[in-house]
Amino acid sequence: MRLLIGLVMAAFALFSYFRSSVYNPVTGEQQHINITAEQEIALGLQSAPQMAAQFGGLHPDQRAQALVDAVGQRLVQSSAAAQTPYPFEFSLLADEQTVNAFALPGGPIFITAALFERLQTEGQLAGVLGHEIGHVVARHSAEHIAKQQLTQGLTGALVLSTYDPDNPGSRQTAQIARVVGQLLNMKYGREDELESDRLGVRFLADAGYDPRALIGVMQILAEAGAGARQPEFFSTHPNPENRIAQIEAAIQERFPQGVPEGLRP
Ligand SMILES: [Zn+2]
Repeated sequence: MRLLIGLVMAAFALFSYFRSSVYNPVTGEQQHINITAEQEIALGLQSAPQMAAQFGGLHPDQRAQALVDAVGQRLVQSSAAAQTPYPFEFSLLADEQTVNAFALPGGPIFITAALFERLQTEGQLAGVLGHEIGHVVARHSAEHIAKQQLTQGLTGALVLSTYDPDNPGSRQTAQIARVVGQLLNMKYGREDELESDRLGVRFLADAGYDPRALIGVMQILAEAGAGARQPEFFSTHPNPENRIAQIEAAIQERFPQGVPEGLRP
């Protein structure tokens, strides 16, 4: 009986996940997502103040703040991001210790002063923001939520069908199921980073920036990553060399004859 309930739960989790298939016009992919763009925007707006507070709140320097916003909006306006329903907003955070940048679902994008100050060109700032815009338009958070629900459903089913209250040893199986679930999500995280890098290259080129600036960003982050706290860029993707190689491949694909002259560095 326990096994049967477990099977039904697993089937339901799989059914709900695979039934919710949405086409993403920016990435050209079919995605499993079960929340709407409006819900994403609401989630992002709701968590934005808390997220900002974690990194010292908004930076008081209005000129730097305006630069971050201008470069971000330029990327949005000249790329496919402009055709999405997301109200993008770019904020510079006051934190001077944590080298970080991140995107919340639906459009809020942040960069810390610690990362901002390490950047050498406007193109590198565009590289950071373009990568984050990539996370938003590729709807990675929404995908993550759907995957988590699937994993929880499957884990719950496996735990239920294998856990025997009279034999505590069976708890091990339950724990393994949980770990497998986490590994699954981590793998998606790496792919998300690579996809955002590719989208970053695309948005940079669309806005007239030299996409090689993103390689410079990777090098800056690799140096910063030697510290205690890992930047978001590396949290799920520990291999920067591999990432740079993939960015180079994306640039080669965009500009088979070589990167043209006159792009903003
Ligand atoms: Zn990222």
